[in-house]
Amino acid sequence: MAREAEVSRILVFGGTGYIGKHIVRASVSLGHPTCIYARPTGPQTGPSNLNLRHEFRSISINIIEGELEEHEKIVAALKQVDIVISALAYPQVLDQLKIIDAIIAAGNIKRFVPSDFGCEEDKITPLPPFEEFLEKKRKIRRAIEAASIPFTFITANCFAAYFVNLLLHPHNPHDEIVVYGDGEANAVLNYEEDIGKYTIKVANDPRACNRVVTYRPKSNIISQHQLISLWEEKTGRRFKRVCVPEEDLVKLSQTLPPPENIPVSILHSIFVKGDLMSYEIKEDDLEASRMYPEMQFTTIDQLLDIFLTDPPEPARAAFE
Ligand code: NDP
Repeated sequence: MAREAEVSRILVFGGTGYIGKHIVRASVSLGHPTCIYARPTGPQTGPSNLNLRHEFRSISINIIEGELEEHEKIVAALKQVDIVISALAYPQVLDQLKIIDAIIAAGNIKRFVPSDFGCEEDKITPLPPFEEFLEKKRKIRRAIEAASIPFTFITANCFAAYFVNLLLHPHNPHDEIVVYGDGEANAVLNYEEDIGKYTIKVANDPRACNRVVTYRPKSNIISQHQLISLWEEKTGRRFKRVCVPEEDLVKLSQTLPPPENIPVSILHSIFVKGDLMSYEIKEDDLEASRMYPEMQFTTIDQLLDIFLTDPPEPARAAFE
């Protein structure tokens, strides 16, 4: 018998993570039976992770506890679902080869979305520390293609609240704001809740099968100077802009020990070189705001209003 209304069942790896939780919440709110594959809890599990698991259970999310090494357990989990989304942290990117092996063994998965969620790694060549980081994500893309697993690769660009916290530090306001390079390069900042929603939409969308989807709404393209000016308008304050020249960032990327050399290389790529906007989106490329004209991305202006009233907590991505 056909399953009721053919709503796809979604399994998320990394669902308790910074971006993963938004994907999981969006999956439930869009009506998908949703489960997460998460490590077993133990003394090392922090309170926010425990609270999230409690929240997830209260909205009928099935939490399958297991390690990424438990092949049979992952295969059994995959057999219960249609779509797999990985939002594992960067240090676990190559562990996704284990998920790929399990998807091949299960044989029923209709779509796999690996943990990309950043810049378009097949189109840019940043400084070496970030290039090595991206090379791992490329390796996963190539393994998925080689295994003929139906995929969607997501170029979500900057997580907006993450980068507003990093650039403007609204939680700890100073008189000065650091500007990387000349501050004129355009970046793309998309609110995390939207990234969750659009990710569930594209994972289910036949148009996005075996395609890259970029999240580049026009309202969310902004330079550092424009962002600071907008924040000055909102707060009624004036900030001294302290520039870090490109040469200093390049030098730091060469002298800082790993993994500290990765974040400076990312800042260089996004805010100095303008890598997120360095290529054109052509007519036949998939861009999320064009694919779903009935939906709206939160604009940067709206996001800064959220920062005024209920500022999202700062976060730092894992690099090792
Ligand atoms: P998190 O650091 O929040 O981690 C995600 C999940 O990975 C965790 O909740 C955990 O799940 C799992 N995990 C962590 N450590 C381990 C481990 N040792 N073994 C197994 N599982 C582990 O990830 P982010 O949300 O920061 O990153 C997700 C993706 O987003 C990455 O690809 C990253 O590069 C990208 N990113 C993009 C940004 C942007 O601006 N575009 C910014 C930040 C990240 P559990 O506890 O449930 O097992």
